[in-house]
Amino acid sequence: MQLVSSMYPCQDVPVLVFRQRCTHPCLYCGLYKYQFPEDKIITSGRDNIVREMSKYKGAYFSPVTDCFLPENCELTHYLLEETWKMSPRWVPLVNTKQMIPEKTIELFARKSHELVLQISIPSSDEELVSILEPGSAFVSKRLGMIKELTTAGIPVIVTIMPWFDFGKPEELAKKLSNAGVKRTLILNGILTETQRKRMINSVNMQIKSVAESVCFVKEATENGYVLSRERRIKSLTQLIDTLTRFGILARVCICDNHDLGDTKLPLCGKFKHHNFEN
Ligand code: SF4
Repeated sequence: MQLVSSMYPCQDVPVLVFRQRCTHPCLYCGLYKYQFPEDKIITSGRDNIVREMSKYKGAYFSPVTDCFLPENCELTHYLLEETWKMSPRWVPLVNTKQMIPEKTIELFARKSHELVLQISIPSSDEELVSILEPGSAFVSKRLGMIKELTTAGIPVIVTIMPWFDFGKPEELAKKLSNAGVKRTLILNGILTETQRKRMINSVNMQIKSVAESVCFVKEATENGYVLSRERRIKSLTQLIDTLTRFGILARVCICDNHDLGDTKLPLCGKFKHHNFEN
């Protein structure tokens, strides 16, 4: 495995690249096979990574695979525990769609002030998500785990990602609220031609119809297909208003929405979290 220099302009922390990548990738994902160029690699090997990672304020687990794939769970736990031993104020940003093992949840409960935990859910529609994210945990399981985490005093930021306007914002907001979620980050997602075709070939009519309706933009982090500006503004406004009614704070990642700077949407262009600023 490798530790690689930051890959997002808004987060100045290195990222973890596991050898074991997602075997059943999400239909929209363009990163699961991504190989970083040599000049981006800071170090490799488990113990070198722990040593090197502890010198930074934090690290991102993990942008190009899920760090809680069953094959990655033990390694993820080891890296977290050992790096915290070397640097108790170190703050990992952990994002997953998988189930987190109980012993790691216990570790998180002890380190909740030195952690930013994100769990990703694109929709409350179980069937749709099982097709969109075939290798990930059921939405009901993710929500059950979030409830367990928030009950244990571990705040969870839900990344609503990708937001393809699949509808039912009320149902999603209600389920998040019941699970104790107070904060969300909405990411629209940019499709490459390959990912768009994979979605067009889906058996699910909603996924197919979204992929057929996206349009090409150049203004994002990379060129690709997103929902039209008009549709993003309308559906994001509706989603944010609904989340707000349920007492949930929502921000929209600017990466896929550079063309929305002239709107009143709460865009987020810099990774900020109070645990990170301690
Ligand atoms: S879990 Fe993450 S890295 Fe893996 S395929 Fe899905 S989006 Fe890509």
